[in-house]
Order: sequence, then C-alpha cells, then structure tokens
Amino acid sequence: MEFRKKTILITGGAGFIGSNLCKKLHSDGNNIICMDNFYTGTYENIYSLVNKEYFTILNHDVINPYDFYVDEIYNLACPASPPFYQRNPVHTFKTGILGAINGLELATKWDAKILQASTSEVYGDAQVHPQVETYWGNVNPDGIRACYDESKRGAETIFFDYNRTYKTNIKIIRIFNTYGPGMNPDDGRVVSNFIIQALRNDDITVYGDGSQTRSFCYISDLIDGIIKMMNSDSTVQGPINLGNPSEFTVLELAEKIIQLTRSKSKIIFEKLPQDDPKQRKPNIEKANKQLDWKPLVSLEDGLTETINYFKEKLK
Ligand code: NAD
Ligand code: UDP
Repeated sequence: MEFRKKTILITGGAGFIGSNLCKKLHSDGNNIICMDNFYTGTYENIYSLVNKEYFTILNHDVINPYDFYVDEIYNLACPASPPFYQRNPVHTFKTGILGAINGLELATKWDAKILQASTSEVYGDAQVHPQVETYWGNVNPDGIRACYDESKRGAETIFFDYNRTYKTNIKIIRIFNTYGPGMNPDDGRVVSNFIIQALRNDDITVYGDGSQTRSFCYISDLIDGIIKMMNSDSTVQGPINLGNPSEFTVLELAEKIIQLTRSKSKIIFEKLPQDDPKQRKPNIEKANKQLDWKPLVSLEDGLTETINYFKEKLK
C-alpha cells in the first residue's frame, strides 16, 4: 500500500482556491478530504481527482459539526464573490463563524493544525495604505459587505481565543484578490467578469469611475504561500498578508484585458456598489520575512494563463 504523508481536510475544496490546493497537496502525496456544500464550488473543479485513491469528497455544510481524524485543516469554505456572499447573507455569516468553530473543535480534539483563510476585507475601506497586519481596519458593521467582512473578523477572534484557551495550533492568512484557472465564469468577481466579457466582445462593466484599486495575485503564488504558512514554525500564527503588491486601478485592469484578448469590447460605467473599498494593496514584509515568500507571477503572465483557461471553458 502506498504511504500517504498526512490526512488533510480542505473545507471549500471544490472552490477556486480550494480545488487548486486539493490538486497540489494530493500530488504531494497527502490523503485529502475535500468538504464542500457546492454553493459556489463545482465537481468540475475537482474532476481530475474524483475516483483517485486518497481523495474523498464530503458533501457537507461546515455550519454543521463533523468528526473524523485529521492532521491538518485548511478552512476555506465561504463564498468569496460579493454577489454570491450577499445572496444569502445570513448563511454567509453562519459559514464564517460556525464554520470556524466547527473546524477549531476538530483541530482541538485531534491536536491538528488549522489554517484560516481570512481576507483583506478585514481592513474594509482601509485608511492605511498599503495595508499592514497591525492595522485594525475600517469596516461598516451594518452594510451589505458586513456578512462577509465581520464573519471573517469574528473568525480571526475565535481562532485566537481557541489558541489562548485550548492551545489549538492556529495559522491565519489574509488573502488579497487572487485570480487564475479554477475560477467560475459566473463568479461575478472583477477578473472573471472582464475576461468573459472581453472574450465575448460584450461591454466591460466598470463599477464607478474605475479609479478604485486592487492588487491581483496569481493562484500558483497564493498556493505556495498558503502551504508555506501551514508548514511554518509553530511560533508563526499570523495574521499574515498574502497578496501581490502590484497595484492597478480597475480601469487599468479593463484596458489590459482588452489588449491581451484583442477584444472589440468597449468599457461602460455602472453604479459603484455600497462600501466598495477605494484602494487595496498588501504590505507583504511579514510574509517575506517569516515565510520567505513573495509572488513571482506578473499580472500580464497571470492574465494570459487565465484568459487561456476561460477560452477553453467557453468552447
Ligand atoms: P469560492 O467561492 O470559489 O470557494 C469557496 C468554496 O466554499 C466553494 O466551493 C463553496 O461551495 C464552498 N462553501 C461555501 N459555503 C460553504 C459551507 N457553508 N459549507 C461548505 N462549503 C461551503 O471562493 P475562493 O476564491 O476559492 O475563496 C476560498 C476562501 O478564500 C474563502 O474563504 C475566501 O473568503 C478566501 N479568500 C479568497 C480571496 C480571493 O481573492 N479568491 C480573497 C480573500 C479571501
Ligand atoms: N468590479 C467592476 N466590475 C465588475 C466586477 C467588479 O468594476 O464587473 C469592481 C468592484 O466594484 C471592485 C473591484 O472591481 O471595486 C474588485 O471587485 P471584486 O468583486 O473582484 O472583489 P472585491 O471588491 O471583493 O475586492
């Protein structure tokens, strides 16, 4: 019988980041349990792993407790795209909080390590730029983004409380906008929307005047950082920012995608959603120092790969 290194639970394993993580950790020789309720994730994302040995799919909602042996947990379950997390905000909030608690209970019981996929959204409409981990953020607790932002903030709180109370072995990363193969074409986030619109020669929908900024990290860089965090020294708990510090306006992104796809699309301007953060860029000194991590893939190279992926999807 083949020897597998670790038994690893990935919640949200059928989603964009989760499916990429499942593939990498399975190919590294681990026994993978992929838990998902398939709200935004798909079987298609994990199709290459289905029926493989040492890969198990559990169709389960993380708001409900579960119990089985694990060595490590990557807690990624949560819709990440604003249209999807706002569609059922009560469930999003429960996913953020109860999902964290159920994962922490399991990790505590089996003395496993647990990594929380937190987010740059904990900084809200940041007044400190670039965002550094010591900044406490500027989140509207009552707005339409709060079901996501506040549950992610609450999850960080409960992670540290389990650590202080039960010595649970925790790791927290704050992920900044990430893109790449594995994204759902209907996901609603900016990179997938613009590429699909450009490939179809449809209008590109820039919200507001497009002057808001984001910093886009390619998926392979993020996966590398997530795994480095899980494998880091036990003194490294985070929170640690993981993202690409190259900052672009949304308008610049639209223009770049039109250029790379040689699209005939024109840019149109639509209403800016409520509480849309004006600027976002990670300070990644901590990740660089504590994990020896920095992103390597440029926006142009990452977009080219992602455009090729979506071209295949649209066939
Ligand atoms: P995604 O929507 O593609 O994946 C989320 C996965 O979680 C999906 O497979 C979905 O079906 C599953 N899920 C949702 N609610 C669930 C529940 N209650 N029970 C079980 N499964 C559930 O999003 P993603 O981009 O892959 O994001 C993964 C994680 O990373 C999320 O926690 C997100 O908050 C975090 N994150 C992502 C980004 C990004 O730019 N992609 C940025 C910051 C944080
Ligand atoms: N955005 C846009 N057009 C779209 C989708 C998004 O202009 O079709 C903008 C959105 O308003 C935000 C930025 O792009 O300013 C990033 O949006 P996304 O939903 O990808 O992520 P988040 O706002 O959570 O960073």
